[in-house]
Amino acid sequence: MSLSNGRQYLAIPGPSVVPDRVLNAMHRASPNIYEGELVEMMPGLITGLKSIARTRHHCAIYISNGHGAWEAALANVISDGDRVLVLATGRFALGWSEVATRMGAVCEIIDHGRQAPVNMGKLAAALAADPDHRIKAVMAVQTDTSTSVRNDVAAMRATLDAAGHPALLMIDCIASLACDDFHMDDWGVDVMVAACQKGLMVPPGLGFVFFNDRADRVRETAGRVTHYWDWRPRGSADELWQYFDGTAPTHHLYGLRESLAMIDEEGLDNVLSRHATLSRMIWAAFDVWGQGGPMQLNISDPALRSHAVTAARLGAPHGKALRDWVTANTGVTLGIGLGMIEPGDPLATGYFRIGHMGHVNAHMVLGVLASIDAGLKSMDIPHGRGALDAAAEICAEAVRKR
Ligand SMILES: *Cc1c(COP(=O)(O)O)cnc(C)c1O
Repeated sequence: MSLSNGRQYLAIPGPSVVPDRVLNAMHRASPNIYEGELVEMMPGLITGLKSIARTRHHCAIYISNGHGAWEAALANVISDGDRVLVLATGRFALGWSEVATRMGAVCEIIDHGRQAPVNMGKLAAALAADPDHRIKAVMAVQTDTSTSVRNDVAAMRATLDAAGHPALLMIDCIASLACDDFHMDDWGVDVMVAACQKGLMVPPGLGFVFFNDRADRVRETAGRVTHYWDWRPRGSADELWQYFDGTAPTHHLYGLRESLAMIDEEGLDNVLSRHATLSRMIWAAFDVWGQGGPMQLNISDPALRSHAVTAARLGAPHGKALRDWVTANTGVTLGIGLGMIEPGDPLATGYFRIGHMGHVNAHMVLGVLASIDAGLKSMDIPHGRGALDAAAEICAEAVRKR
């Protein structure tokens, strides 16, 4: 007997669940790439993406994953020897900095560890220590997917402005776009990178770089703008079509059109508050579990937690064992601990993550929580009782208040 047969839920922080509507939109014969619908729908895709990023500026579409979008963004603004300030709050800003280093940048890293957000005092001090403005860009991640911390991007801009420092502010929203609130223009973000397989609900394959005119002026003299990554032709809906540099990602574009339509129908604000409420349901369950055992959320302050992903510590080797139990017995796949290495636990088996980004609703989250609860019971891992009750209360209360 297996209790895992039935519809599977890949509850990891990307790729996320792909809606049937998106899959069906992609299920078609190869479209005409010279004229007609595919060509005509490009301006609408760019408009839709820009409205989710809340920007009037530019959006370039690439055939790539998030790592490609990282490289694309850097290729347009980084020259050999440029100094870059990296505000690391987990694996992902560090990963982005590794790309920058390979591209000739000199990275100065402020590492905030794995349980804290970007500290504005430290940022201010680093900027003050750079009176000659040798730092060309400040790079950070809005939601770091390994730690599930959510950073205050507006405060980063305020800190740069208060210091009178001209560095570009570059933000990775790969995990957070359409999950956590983000305002590119109001928050003064110059470059933002995203990808399609998380909050945007499309199979992996499209990377996005949003950039403003200030960043585009840096692009003017940047020393590493390569043919493929150049954002100029890709930022123009008319040109993009001819400049995909090879074959366009035909089916992904249809999938993206459908996902943007779904977000538009629900309304971005409703999408964001759905993510916020689902997150609070998850946190409520973890609070109860933690009252009677070792389960702990990685980020203790709810105001600093992402609404897209949750990282939790159960202690080695129980985190991995719980994941394995849930996968084998419930049809839910949880995310692995990423980069959360501890003494005696080189594989981060003490941690696991839940992806709750994109096409996720209350019954899916309740199902994940119930699966974890069953695993804790089955494996005799001590835990507080009543976690599902607590999650259901949050759900009920959110509906009452609506
Ligand atoms: C997923 C993710 C990435 C990497 O994206 P890939 O498509 O796996 O290359 C980068 N940054 C963040 C914050 C992510 O969540």
